[in-house]
This record gives sequence, structure tokens and C-alpha cells, in this order.
Amino acid sequence: MFKKIVFSFFIITALSGMNLFAQSQSSAERRAGLAAKSKYFSIYVDSRADIYSILQKLNYQQFSMNPNFMASKNNDVKTILADTLDSIFLEVSDILDSHIYTFSGELKIVFTKDDIGEIYKFYFNKDFHERSFYIYEKNTVYISYSDMTLGMLAHEVAHAVISYYFGVPPPMKIQEVLAGYVEYHLRRKMGDLQ
Ligand SMILES: [Zn+2]
Repeated sequence: MFKKIVFSFFIITALSGMNLFAQSQSSAERRAGLAAKSKYFSIYVDSRADIYSILQKLNYQQFSMNPNFMASKNNDVKTILADTLDSIFLEVSDILDSHIYTFSGELKIVFTKDDIGEIYKFYFNKDFHERSFYIYEKNTVYISYSDMTLGMLAHEVAHAVISYYFGVPPPMKIQEVLAGYVEYHLRRKMGDLQ
């Protein structure tokens, strides 16, 4: 009887430990509400951000030829955002030749680079001065609305694809080389390089 109780306590403790990332959020993260759900991503956007501006930053018109793009049937900006995200995910998967049909991640578009720093500090207790990052344990990409570009988002989506394709995320140096390769190829394809 006693042993059984101790064992249950151990299991509960282990499970709650695994859920550490799911327990709470920083205030910057809470300001980003669910805006759209695509096939591959739940997309959260800070209430001060303008979705049409996000679409412009992502050169969404370049993706409208993509077969999965439904925007021609529905002009709602949130639907176009969902279709754009799925198109970016598929482009990144093509560049890496790594296709994960069951992928389901989150994208959180917060307002500024300071919000990115606040969220990183909340989870890792370290200063961070970049404009975007990816957390494998949450399968979540965080990006600053004020700074975001298509190349930056493709880079972070590449981290998500790489981590999930290999089951265990490869060493950071390998990931950065591959994510940089994806960013370069997508920018070149979109005519975003000199
Ligand atoms: Zn990176």
C-alpha cells in the first residue's frame, strides 16, 4: 500500500516535470491570441499587430500560385495568413526534402524584439537579443512582428522541420547550417537576394 502511494507520487511528479513548458506563459506571450489555424500551424498574433502587414512582410502574393492556397475562394486575411504559413512550411520541407505530413506546430507573432527577449528569459532565464527563435519542447516558433521577414520565418520553420524529421534534434551547429541553407534558397527563389 505504502509502496503504491510512493510510486504514484513519483509518476505524477515525472509527468508534471515533462509539462513544465506548458504550465505558464510570460505576459508578452499571453498578448498573442489565436488568430488562425492552418493545416500545420496554430497561429497566434499580438493584438497590436496588423495581419495584412504580416502578409506583406511575408510576400504572400508569391505563394498564391501554390496548390494548397485557398485565398482565391476566401479573401479573409486570417485565411490568407493560414494558407501562406502552410505554403512556407511546404517550401521549407521541399528545400530540405523532408516531408512530415502529421506536423502540428505553433507560431507566435509577438509585437517587438523586446517581447522575444522577455519570452526567452521566461523559459531559459538568459538574455536574448535576436528577433526570433524556436522551442523544440513546445514545437513553437516565436517571431517579432516589428522585425519579421520571410527569410527569418523560413529559418525558424526549418528548425521545426529539422527537429521533427530527425526525431531527436541534431546538434545546434548542424541545425544552423541547414536553417541558413533554407533561408538562403527561399530568399533567392523569391528574388530577395542581389
Ligand atoms: Zn537558427
